[in-house]
Amino acid sequence: MTAHPAYLRTDPDGARAPVVLDSPHSGTVYPEDFRHAVTMSALRCAEDAFVDQLYACGPRHGATLIAARFPRSYIDANRSVLDVDTALLDAPWPGPAAASRKTQLGIGLIWRVLDTGEPIYARKLSVDEVRRRITGFHQPYQKAVKDALDETRAHFGAVWHLNCHSMPAVSSVISEEGPGKPRAGFVLGDRDGTTCEPAFTAFVAGALSDMGYDVKVNDPYKGVELVRAFSDPADGRHSLQVEVNRRLYMDERTGEKSPGFARLARDIERLVKAICGYAAERGSHPCEGHHDHAACGHDHHHPHGHEHDHGHHHPHHGHDHGHSKDEH
Ligand SMILES: [Zn+2]
Repeated sequence: MTAHPAYLRTDPDGARAPVVLDSPHSGTVYPEDFRHAVTMSALRCAEDAFVDQLYACGPRHGATLIAARFPRSYIDANRSVLDVDTALLDAPWPGPAAASRKTQLGIGLIWRVLDTGEPIYARKLSVDEVRRRITGFHQPYQKAVKDALDETRAHFGAVWHLNCHSMPAVSSVISEEGPGKPRAGFVLGDRDGTTCEPAFTAFVAGALSDMGYDVKVNDPYKGVELVRAFSDPADGRHSLQVEVNRRLYMDERTGEKSPGFARLARDIERLVKAICGYAAERGSHPCEGHHDHAACGHDHHHPHGHEHDHGHHHPHHGHDHGHSKDEH
């Protein structure tokens, strides 16, 4: 476990799979200098509560897990650093800014309003405090995710990234499609097929459907910055956003876990295990976890030199290994 003020990183216990999980919105450590005007209970509704716990099984199955410690209402790790809401500031923003649709809705890099439309602050924010939120929390979190993806991609030749969230049971007043729309059990987002291979989205959707969940793809959530920024399916970098409906595991009014939590956690563990299997079959360096990357000593540009390569010793790799393995 690596602990940074902005995040916790948990590496696999044993055998590694080319899978990285990240939970950017489940943080609950509210910094002293937040100085919000809304109540804590209103603010906490913005959390993707317990999502880090739902995916805590990941390292047992070979995945690396990164979880934010700070709350998304303080600064949103799933936004571009350019998505600054300059109307929130007491002075001109000195850096580049490109407000997205999210900032227009009041939920850019630093949120102006809660889901209810209630303003979070009764003051302007200083340029310095926004900078501190960026350098102290936003940048370290995004770097932690990028580093884990880069390391995994270098080791296995490919990486499968699940960007993990939860969503309210029904849409809010600030959602694009208007308030009161019930959500599916799970919504997968690959930004209309651009952030991962289509087979991966189909695999995850199929695994969840097989467990009895209703699943939608890119409707209404297509995925935002963390699946966009580091993905490149043509280069073996696959990112998929997964939103789970909060009604499956918590009482949104009280913020407490519901009796459904245990069942959902078991099903997510089955999902993560299946994803690790999917990824391990396709990654080209299944080192079986008996040594770490630094010690494993193989030259990734000469995979023929490594005894674990190519699936010759792994019959289940069989004929498909030409599709995605060996291509560095
Ligand atoms: Zn989220």
